Amino acid sequence: MISVVGGGIMGALSALVAARFTHDGAVDWWAPPENPQRDDGAQARAYALAPQTVDLLKELGIWTALADKAQPVGAMQVFHVQPAAQVDLLASDAQLEALAHIVVHADLLAACEQATQYAANIQRKGAFQPPDPLACDPAAACPPGSTLTIAADGKDSRLRRAAGILHSRRDYDQMALVMAFTTEQPHGGMACQWFRPEGILALLPLRDPHQVSMVYSLPTAQAAQLKDQSLQEIAGRITQDSEYRFGKLAPLGGNCQAAALTMMTAERMSAGRLVLVGDAAHTVHPLAGYGLNLGVQDLLALRQTLQTEQATHARQAKDFDPGHRRVQQAYARSRKSQVPQVQWGLDILWRVVTGETPGLAGGRSMGMQVVQSMPQLRKWLVGSALSGRAVPF
Ligand SMILES: Cc1cc2nc3c(=O)[nH]c(=O)nc-3n(C[C@H](O)[C@H](O)[C@H](O)COP(=O)(O)OP(=O)(O)OC[C@H]3O[C@@H](n4cnc5c(N)ncnc54)[C@H](O)[C@@H]3O)c2cc1C
Repeated sequence: MISVVGGGIMGALSALVAARFTHDGAVDWWAPPENPQRDDGAQARAYALAPQTVDLLKELGIWTALADKAQPVGAMQVFHVQPAAQVDLLASDAQLEALAHIVVHADLLAACEQATQYAANIQRKGAFQPPDPLACDPAAACPPGSTLTIAADGKDSRLRRAAGILHSRRDYDQMALVMAFTTEQPHGGMACQWFRPEGILALLPLRDPHQVSMVYSLPTAQAAQLKDQSLQEIAGRITQDSEYRFGKLAPLGGNCQAAALTMMTAERMSAGRLVLVGDAAHTVHPLAGYGLNLGVQDLLALRQTLQTEQATHARQAKDFDPGHRRVQQAYARSRKSQVPQVQWGLDILWRVVTGETPGLAGGRSMGMQVVQSMPQLRKWLVGSALSGRAVPF
């Protein structure tokens, strides 16, 4: 039996992937219904799903329920505000239908949960709490009887702690404010990002042609100040900071949610019969909308490892053990360089765009002008961004 712990999106996806690899056909998915008011405000988020993520959702039969709720992003405009510069990235530059698809958290989670209900071998259970949270023993961290446990229980993972896996954390001293707006002008499937002196503002197009979702990363004190304002005042400020790109903005209901931003890295991706996926293993700054996509890449790597091991066992006519040490080691190896590459790539990008080094802003803006003038370079940038290599402007 394979156990998956975590009631979020990575937990649901892990259960669906695991359901194809159980020897006795059973997956225990430890997933209490999500609290509709999560402390981290995740319900307000809209995710930019990379093409690879959308492909997995299609394979798992999730996309059918989601396609008419997802907004394809045909183009992205990146603005450097002072000194002014602009880069336009087009899906057509990379021969793609879309650079990304935007979906809101509730729709994505509901579609994932629906797919798990159709999978007869997934048993949904409540929360799993390791009996001794400080055991520092991978065996004690896993539900009894499971051959493989996939921990998808988020950035404060209790399973990670109970297993004795250490982690490092870099605090950006920034908060991301998340809020949705209606727009005066239609967004036309355009995502926009502004590198402003005070922070990084992104407006992502939602399925309604007049609705966008904001992520504004700001120093903690400034974020708290803005969040304390009325929704109307916030809409006024964002209208100005977005330079009226979509005309006047108005609050779409709901609140302005805030999340503290950190880069967290687990020192190991596996221990004993436990593997970590998604935010339980790593978090990144949201400036490139990459966190969930990075988690999906964990899952693709785990699936690949399980497939290889299963095929080897079939050739040797042996019973397949999904939690075998070879699976753990191969999975950890496959993520060893890719996760830090994305994390540090995004961190460098963050340092470059928020740096106060004299002359750097001018250099950045000039760099963006060069990119804008060279279609081949833009095409390469789109390909690089979609394959998970962060690209600093
Ligand atoms: C402001 C912001 C914007 C973002 N935008 C994007 C974006 O555009 N694109 C993108 O790819 N990523 C984005 N991300 C990152 C993305 O939100 C996360 O990477 C992703 O949600 C992680 O999913 P997860 O399932 O691993 O963790 P979580 O969403 O944290 O889910 C963990 C789940 O496990 C449950 N749980 C905890 N303990 C237990 C237990 N003991 N038993 C059972 N269940 C348990 C929790 O209740 C929760 O439901 C953004 C992040 C932020 C902060």
